[in-house]
Amino acid sequence: MRIHRVLFSLALMMVTVAPMPAGPSPQLPPPAIETRPTVSPEWLMPYRDAAARLIGASLASDAAWQRLAYIGDTFGHRLSGSPNLEAAIRWAVEEMQRDGLENVRAEPVKVPHWVRGRESLEIVGTIPQPLVMLGLGNSIGTPPGGIEADLVVVHSFEELDAMRARVRGRIVLFNVPFATYGETVRYRSAGPSRAATLGAVAALVRSVGPPGLRTPHTGSLQYAEGQPQIPAAAVTAEDAARLQRMSDRGTQVLLKLMMEAHFLPDADSANVVGEIRGRERPDEVVVIGGHFDSWDVGTGSTDDGSGCVATWEALRLMKKLNLRPRRTVRVVLWTNEENGGRGGVSYRDRHQTELGSHVMLMESDSGVLHPRGFGFSGTDAARAKIRDIAMLLSGIQVDAIGPSGGGADISPSVQQANIPALSLESDGNYFLIHHTPADTIDKIDPMEMSRSAAAIAVMAYVVAEMQETLR
Ligand SMILES: [Zn+2]
Repeated sequence: MRIHRVLFSLALMMVTVAPMPAGPSPQLPPPAIETRPTVSPEWLMPYRDAAARLIGASLASDAAWQRLAYIGDTFGHRLSGSPNLEAAIRWAVEEMQRDGLENVRAEPVKVPHWVRGRESLEIVGTIPQPLVMLGLGNSIGTPPGGIEADLVVVHSFEELDAMRARVRGRIVLFNVPFATYGETVRYRSAGPSRAATLGAVAALVRSVGPPGLRTPHTGSLQYAEGQPQIPAAAVTAEDAARLQRMSDRGTQVLLKLMMEAHFLPDADSANVVGEIRGRERPDEVVVIGGHFDSWDVGTGSTDDGSGCVATWEALRLMKKLNLRPRRTVRVVLWTNEENGGRGGVSYRDRHQTELGSHVMLMESDSGVLHPRGFGFSGTDAARAKIRDIAMLLSGIQVDAIGPSGGGADISPSVQQANIPALSLESDGNYFLIHHTPADTIDKIDPMEMSRSAAAIAVMAYVVAEMQETLR
């Protein structure tokens, strides 16, 4: 709470007063946070007061964190098609109305309905050895009695192809250490089909994430069209290492995989939308949001409850402070990002005629753990503006602007209408808990949540309020 207050007053000072004098005063202790130069351009002057108020109100409150905790505690996970997600959506509509947001609505979306069911993996032997696993999203199940087959371990697609003679009839483990998400995730998405093509009967993937505490990471796979489909699951880094050691010793490892995973007919779901209508140019829209669905393990608090609540909080703060910008600010909680992406596509299609007057789209789907700034994609002129606006965030140290911004839910609209795109970027260890049972509220510091919401609020407010249109 004390740090809360120190940061709060520092942030206010940095936004509202002239640049801090250089060098520490000998009478004063060193500052609690690094202070950066804040010589911001003249055009930002009219927005400094509103920015200071938004930051002040956000840092003085843990309302966003409390709301996120409530969602996880009340509804649990929010997998597409689950009653949990639909109850959370109904609640969010009512809660946005209670906040006083305008044009609050649920825009219907049909979503795939994948169900995990019971599942297990064990090393077969006189004393069976259960392993920690999670079926991959969109996987088919095994026959009711499971699949028993010998293990073969590979470390790349090249090695898989080279070992094709040994793959037929086996369970393939892709034991690939986590490098970056972008680099390693292809073994989860494409590995099962690559193995199936060579005659494997099931696929296992070392969890896509840094080693945790025997934590399995789920996530979706994509079956290649026209190829046989085999069941697939993630195993923990520790269990992958164990299977590797046994294989290196020349032990023939017999595995039994059982998964009840299956699809039900597509289900009704919705994107939740709320607005603060613009006072002068209501048809020009700044969209911010996150995806409200999650995997069915943990409570999706970081991925992506945090992005939903932080962007939503930006509108709540504007409303509370009576800040009605020139243009409309719209929050969207997209559905079905994790195993279908239908919410983002549906938003694009439903708002087709309006996309030309979307000024900016922002998605927060990288967590709020140690926010550092925003990724941005757009013209050089727009980038220069965004960089300037970020100076208003130096006091809370969320002022870095990265080379590219975007997100799975905004990209259909961004691509179609060439709209400037932002994403909140953070330095925290997001991929340690990503898609795991450990994605729960306790990993999130209320202060980080408040800093993220403040940064999003200031960015969205200034883009919606400034004279010139960003795009
Ligand atoms: Zn996500």
